[in-house]
Amino acid sequence: MSAVFDRSRERVAAATRHMPGGVSSHFRYGVSPTPLVFERADGVYLHDIDGNRLIDYYLALGPMILGHTPPDVIAAARAQLDRGILYGGQSELEFEAARLVCEMVPCAERVRFCASGTEADQLALRLSRAVTGRDVIVKFEGHYHGWMDSVLWSTAPTGNAMGPESGPTPVGGSAGQDSLAGRNTEVLSWNRPEQVIDRLARGDVAAVLMEAAMCNSGAIMPLPGYLEAVREACTKHGTILIFDEVITGFRVGPGGAQKRLGVTPDLAVFAKAIANGFAVAAVAGRADIMDQLAGGNIIHGGTYNAQAVNMAATVATLQRLATPGIYERMESRGQRLMQGLAKAFADAGVTATVTGFPQIFHVGLGLEAPAVNYRDMIRVDRAGYVRLTTLLLKHGVRALERGAWFLSTEHDEAIVDATIAAMRAALAEWTT
Ligand code: PLP
Repeated sequence: MSAVFDRSRERVAAATRHMPGGVSSHFRYGVSPTPLVFERADGVYLHDIDGNRLIDYYLALGPMILGHTPPDVIAAARAQLDRGILYGGQSELEFEAARLVCEMVPCAERVRFCASGTEADQLALRLSRAVTGRDVIVKFEGHYHGWMDSVLWSTAPTGNAMGPESGPTPVGGSAGQDSLAGRNTEVLSWNRPEQVIDRLARGDVAAVLMEAAMCNSGAIMPLPGYLEAVREACTKHGTILIFDEVITGFRVGPGGAQKRLGVTPDLAVFAKAIANGFAVAAVAGRADIMDQLAGGNIIHGGTYNAQAVNMAATVATLQRLATPGIYERMESRGQRLMQGLAKAFADAGVTATVTGFPQIFHVGLGLEAPAVNYRDMIRVDRAGYVRLTTLLLKHGVRALERGAWFLSTEHDEAIVDATIAAMRAALAEWTT
């Protein structure tokens, strides 16, 4: 197979007459060989307007954990459409969705729904500031928490501007960002317990916000004892620990990274896999913190929060994800894929690491050893990997240019093996 993408290229170019860049998100712009235009999706496949059928490991950047057309989720959403879309009030569906989250996630004693991960992070930070009466937020290099001004700091490599690893300089992520919005956002190196312990000792930090495993820049696991050390320091100094589980939540296990890694935060943020592609996010956490949202002076709004069709999809998604054996099957197929890709790289004589969870892992082209930190990760051969994923696309597999691979319940062994074969073919062309 050698897919071509000419119609996508033409249509995106034509769409620039009405839409900046022909796309609706910064992260869909500038991808190689062109932003793609799709006409439908089913199971593990995306179908583009050039007639290509692509095995999908983008999974819309994570949400599609049950694949593109799970019959139970679609039936639940469809049934709800006939009963109304948005009530501007409560529904039994959101009560049930919240109950399921509380049943599955260790930190979840209460849940508040939002419409995107970015908003949910904003809510978790506002709540932390209100509850502690402090302003400062600590985040980490390479961790992404949405595109809001206060958190879009140090999310991309910026050379010398990054400062030393022992004390990174916060670097704004976008032109037009409020330059004062970062005055209470401090950036540390992740996986360095001493940095958090030292900083929190000053007693003025409202919240530590992190991906419990760094999945936006690689898929880097916390070092043994790291999360525990941060947990202890937060408890000692009255700082709220927030895990941003927008990627890991309901993906690496029914209880997210916190259950899998055995450390419970005070608050956690969910989105993506919670509703299999419907626009749902949530903040979940300790009752004494979350209940401050009840009728007090902490404002959190959102016209589309807990929209009824989205809640129907959430309930159906969580019910399926609570089915015994579902994560174990994903785990074994993901391991098969990780091992198969690692062997394909080794056989081709190409240096690369394949690391992370079987349901969200990362290929670090050019890395000799698994990255421990963001500074290790940014040494990957980015340009080489973009070329490789472009070749892979021509062989019918769509994987993220930044190295992440998302798995769904629908990626079975035959699909995994076809993917490994496609990678071998792409590598053969890449190395010549
Ligand atoms: N937090 C993390 C860890 C994410 O990966 C993302 C998006 O990729 C967000 C927050 C923002 O979520 P959303 O795109 O739904 O606003």
